[in-house]
Amino acid sequence: MKTFITGHKSPDTDSIASSLVMANLEKKLGNTNEIIACRLGNLNKETEYVLNHFKVQAPVLIESVAEADEVILVDHNSFAESAPDIADAKISKVIDHHRISGFETSEPLFYMAEPVGCTCTILYELYKTNNIEIEPVYAGLMLSAIISDSLLFKSPTCTPKDVKAAEELATICNTDINSYGLDMLKAGTDLSSYTSEELINIDSKEVSANGYKIQIAQVNTIDIDSVLKKKSEIETAMNNLISSKGLDLFLFAITDILNCNSTAIVLGNKISSVEKAFNVTIENNLVFLPGVVSRKKQIIPPISENI
Ligand code: MG
Ligand code: MG
Ligand code: MG
Repeated sequence: MKTFITGHKSPDTDSIASSLVMANLEKKLGNTNEIIACRLGNLNKETEYVLNHFKVQAPVLIESVAEADEVILVDHNSFAESAPDIADAKISKVIDHHRISGFETSEPLFYMAEPVGCTCTILYELYKTNNIEIEPVYAGLMLSAIISDSLLFKSPTCTPKDVKAAEELATICNTDINSYGLDMLKAGTDLSSYTSEELINIDSKEVSANGYKIQIAQVNTIDIDSVLKKKSEIETAMNNLISSKGLDLFLFAITDILNCNSTAIVLGNKISSVEKAFNVTIENNLVFLPGVVSRKKQIIPPISENI
């Protein structure tokens, strides 16, 4: 019997760390299946840095969950963000910190959701409630995921539970949160080797609102202008995806993680929803969003309400 554990497409550090950590937790909880930590896409640079730092192997790259007897979803629940054949799989557990959307199962399941900043914060709590000791390497992975999802606690998605978990985990893995965290986030801002097609897929989510298809991609940087040098190529890549997926709106957020704001390239028939959501005028397909760093809390909700 095989248990696959997977995070979402365009995996971020939380999705990768959560699948590895949950695989460890499942074993400790007595799951006797062959437990396989999986991923649905390439590692980003930040996650590569994390796995190298803690000397951990990446989860197995998969395109399908057909071989799994059961599947555990971490860091997502939406089928649109999961394996293409997820609807045919037996989902036994979900551990997540997103809104529940496009999710249905035919059998009962264990579903743990909390409005915290990171899936790994919930996993940390599961270790605690089950009285399972956290080994340093898993502490390091969970700490990294919390730093990543919370942008070193600066994102509005960050909660006191995330901070408390990160502090305890940092002690276990003997890591200085600030210096390690900045190095890790900066590793993720090295965008030099990506093509424009890759840039818009590093961290990209499709959401639907009011019957419209919206794609929201995000990259972290410490220099927005260096990304905007490729603006016209990025626009071509975005327009190609708008055509192939039939999108109504595509927003590509370039987020300055040091100054905590974003500049977005916005394309599609429904760009008026972005103007309404942020009370701005889009010029040259560009919009500046001061203080905006969180797609989940600051981008998706206002656009969904105004589309
Ligand atoms: Mg994620
Ligand atoms: Mg997450
Ligand atoms: Mg993220």
